[in-house]
Amino acid sequence: MVASSHNNATADPKLANRYPDTVDSVKIVALGGVGEIGKNCAVVEQGDDIVVIDCGLSFPNEEMLGIDIIVPDFTYLLQNKDKVRGIFLTHAHEDHIGALPYLLKQMNVPIYCSEFTHALIRHKLDERCPSVKVDYRIFKAGEVLQAGGLSVEPIRVTHSIPENCAMAVKTVHGYVLFTGDFKFDFTPVDGKLSDMKRLSEIGAEGVVVLLSDSTNVERPGWGPSESIVTEGLRKVFNDAKGRVLLTTFASNIHRMQQVFQIAKETGRKVAVVGRSMERNLDICMRLGYVKIPNGVLLPLDDVRGLPDHQVALLTTGSQGEPMSALVKMSKAEYGRMQVKEGDTLIYSARPIPGNEGAIWRTINRLFLQGCQVVYEAARPIHVSGHAYQEELKMMINLTQPFYVAPVHGEPRHQYVYNKIAEDMGYPDHRRFTLTSGIPLVIDETKAYLGEEIPTGRVLVDNSGTPGVTESVLRDRYNLANDGLVIVSIAVDSTHGEIVGDPSLHAKGFHGPAGILEETHDIMVDMLASLTPNDLKDLNKVKQAATEIVRKTIVKRAQLRPLIVPSVIEV
Ligand SMILES: [Zn+2]
Ligand SMILES: [Zn+2]
Repeated sequence: MVASSHNNATADPKLANRYPDTVDSVKIVALGGVGEIGKNCAVVEQGDDIVVIDCGLSFPNEEMLGIDIIVPDFTYLLQNKDKVRGIFLTHAHEDHIGALPYLLKQMNVPIYCSEFTHALIRHKLDERCPSVKVDYRIFKAGEVLQAGGLSVEPIRVTHSIPENCAMAVKTVHGYVLFTGDFKFDFTPVDGKLSDMKRLSEIGAEGVVVLLSDSTNVERPGWGPSESIVTEGLRKVFNDAKGRVLLTTFASNIHRMQQVFQIAKETGRKVAVVGRSMERNLDICMRLGYVKIPNGVLLPLDDVRGLPDHQVALLTTGSQGEPMSALVKMSKAEYGRMQVKEGDTLIYSARPIPGNEGAIWRTINRLFLQGCQVVYEAARPIHVSGHAYQEELKMMINLTQPFYVAPVHGEPRHQYVYNKIAEDMGYPDHRRFTLTSGIPLVIDETKAYLGEEIPTGRVLVDNSGTPGVTESVLRDRYNLANDGLVIVSIAVDSTHGEIVGDPSLHAKGFHGPAGILEETHDIMVDMLASLTPNDLKDLNKVKQAATEIVRKTIVKRAQLRPLIVPSVIEV
């Protein structure tokens, strides 16, 4: 039955007639989010229509100095501006929405999203691109959204944020189904279950390819439900003698809901610290996504006078963000509140790859101040929002895709996922390991990898300016590791002669004793071997001097300082 779904799916005569000549293939290409976790953004293209699923960012690793965030290269979308029918957002996590300001500044296209996602992104977009009048189209799960010759149907699936959706894109060859981030949670905090019925229906109608979350594919079994966290948190709240602080993602509304509930049970009042969390909570209260028991939420100033055992604080900073309340508290630099001996901090989140160092440093500083940090406990204080192995198999089983292609994973995750699919009976030609920029092309009878489109990563620096190049990054890396050596040479370019003694100055460079003197002498010998004609060409002098200094230092000291030549004409 599975084997025939690819061909059966082409039978819709209405769609097939719409593009009699041009539409015989469907192209799916990731601009990010495959071979990595972060900057999720995928394109589905059929004839003159393109829909984009998600538009996320990723975070830099510790070698990427001065880089704040990374966004996908949108060249392909800009080249095909007229075809793009809209961006469809699965949910409001940064790795799915964070690049929107950078795309919208370059092209204004409709943004399709749930009411909750809209509420969370609207402020950010107002702030980050005030000149763009964003065309929001708010959907409810289960609606079918027409996008030219394509249609997109959001299907509710559980995750760690309200109103999370899979996206079923209907093409001439059947559904292209993006699971988005998902897990199968049968006791979600908000009581809203995954729409398994609809998933199995579209499976019966014909899913040509399933692009599945694969983040937790290495974890066997079924992931625990969000609800289990309530118990773990309750235990910490009960055991804590002093104040309880809890840090989580500012978008983790369910976790906040759990904290309010437990605070009420254990006789504590809750204050919220951190702008993004305060704002999200405010939005969610207005829209009814969070229900706070009467009198439990107080402004920070009002909890200050209460005895410690009656206080709980929700704070931002779970990713060690330098400007967050928690990080400032850990450095005793937060004016509105300090941590103190007897406090307990619950770390109720998971480090996003790249942030581990900053998070551990924050946790260590808190311990030094006498605050006990609970980041692992016998009863879970955080659970992942991503499907474990059996849940991933369940998704394949429900939707019966002809092809599978894991996304939202690094190569190791993609590999393990495809191994599992193989065990479930998927032969080689029905499993794909996607790479950014290489399209998966589906035609009447087969699927294959097509020709590469422009793709890459765009580095955004701490000032918010995109476009930091790889060579700038390399220079910064060398500079930070091995320092800087400035080479000064004066040349009489009329006669082709060196004037005076060339010099080397170092900053932040540390090598074996005498290395600079030695390098200087070798450079002077090299310059002496140049002809007057060579010396008249200042660029040549610059290049030759840089080269010899670089080579000598690498050879003698195994160091790669940044070499800055300064050749002046006298
Ligand atoms: Zn997510
Ligand atoms: Zn994600």
